[in-house]
Amino acid sequence: MSSSAPSTIDAASRALAAGELSATDLASAMLDRIAAVEPTVHALLTVTADRALADAREADRRRGAGESGPLLGIPIVLKDLFATDGIRTTCGSRILEHYVPPYDADAVTRLARAGAVLVGKANMDEFAMGSSNENSAFGPSRNPWDPGRVPGGSSGGSAAAVAAGECLGALGTDTGGSIRLPASYCGVTGLKPTYGRVSRYGVTAYASSLDQVGPFAHTVRDVSVLLGAIAGHDPRDSTSAPQPVPDYVAALTGDVRGLRFGIPAEYFADGIATAVEKSVREAIETLRGLGATVVDVSLPHTSYGIAAYYLIATAEASSNLARYDGVKYGHRAKRGADELLEMYRHTRDEGFGAEVKRRILLGTYALSAGYYDAYYRKAQKVRTLVRNDFRRAFETCDLILTPTSPGTAFRIGEKVADPLAMYLSDVFTVPTNLAGLPGLSVPCGFDEAGLPIGLQLLAPPFEEADLLRAGDAYQRATDFHERRPAEIGAASGGRSEASEQQSA
Ligand code: GLN
Repeated sequence: MSSSAPSTIDAASRALAAGELSATDLASAMLDRIAAVEPTVHALLTVTADRALADAREADRRRGAGESGPLLGIPIVLKDLFATDGIRTTCGSRILEHYVPPYDADAVTRLARAGAVLVGKANMDEFAMGSSNENSAFGPSRNPWDPGRVPGGSSGGSAAAVAAGECLGALGTDTGGSIRLPASYCGVTGLKPTYGRVSRYGVTAYASSLDQVGPFAHTVRDVSVLLGAIAGHDPRDSTSAPQPVPDYVAALTGDVRGLRFGIPAEYFADGIATAVEKSVREAIETLRGLGATVVDVSLPHTSYGIAAYYLIATAEASSNLARYDGVKYGHRAKRGADELLEMYRHTRDEGFGAEVKRRILLGTYALSAGYYDAYYRKAQKVRTLVRNDFRRAFETCDLILTPTSPGTAFRIGEKVADPLAMYLSDVFTVPTNLAGLPGLSVPCGFDEAGLPIGLQLLAPPFEEADLLRAGDAYQRATDFHERRPAEIGAASGGRSEASEQQSA
């Protein structure tokens, strides 16, 4: 992207409306940028160049015919678990390496209707299981702020693509933090909406009672535009909510006077990095300076969140992933098999990576006779306690404010051998999913190494408008979301075997 090309949806949309820029020029600039930075960042598994240029021409045609809209001609990427008609959708897994869906996910249809331009499918941890992108079967994405570090996961490619300027917005999914954690590590804004706010039709299921679709962009304003486009009831997803979709952009008044922010002591405990705590405490003062009220709240079951999550999520995953058996979708082992079970076994052995296998084993165990009561049922009870914690806290505050994660982006390889350490990066994000609440991560500072820090804001169900209003007011008062990583250099040896060009 030339330095004159806009880096936010808002700026690009104004330039497009004013006729200063065509969608075709913008798409070409993005494809040039992708070609320049992908060898280092590896945020994308598929670059959809032909599709991008066709979408852009169509957007220009629609504008010429008198249409307008904030996403008309805007380049976006999709995490590679959104079904895209005619475009490979791998879920970061060998088992779906060559899978080409025959239909679009609901969110994809809605973005296309709004005129968005698809430039690529983003890298991810296999089946969205991970916090670093290192579980991608096609090699990890790298953090644009420091290519030696992870971008976070599981939607790491989506966050890295926005941070590196390869697109202006992206979609990901968040089951236990997979939008907010990479947003925080990559210095961008990411929103996990309320469970049910966005249809999951055409989105590969990981843990169905927790999964939710959400947007990434540089600013809260841009994220609000994307949420407005993808939210709403869909008869094809029975868990999608019938609640009307408010005008999220109209909610961005800049006014947080009288809004009560609850600060949970449990999220400022041991283990949180000094720079993270300092930045988040400064953010609290910034909001107070804007007229917000700050109150102490308690979320006493926070420390049980990770344990309950890893029982519930793995149990649901073991069931959801049973469908990958070499019969209906994707890879089938070529090794000879004398009977059906053996074919399943070979296929799943070859197709799934180590973390996915670990989760299937854990989940199957937790659901098995004799262990169900001891593990799965108990985890569901803890889930209720976590949910009640939030309900009580929201009796005395409008929003809850915490760090997104205890630390900043870690080095590639640093936590691969220690799954538990990896799981703990999500200690502040997982409880939100257990309770089904919306959560927003916005950039709020940088640590000693120059790595971005994320501020997390949480709201009661379907109160995204408040969440976005607070995040936007914070961004009007700060410039962390305007900082960009230093120029991304030449290839640093990331594997990129799966990033071949593929046209629609
Ligand atoms: N890191 C968590 C996990 O591995 C959350 C992933 C997600 O939100 N998809 O399950």
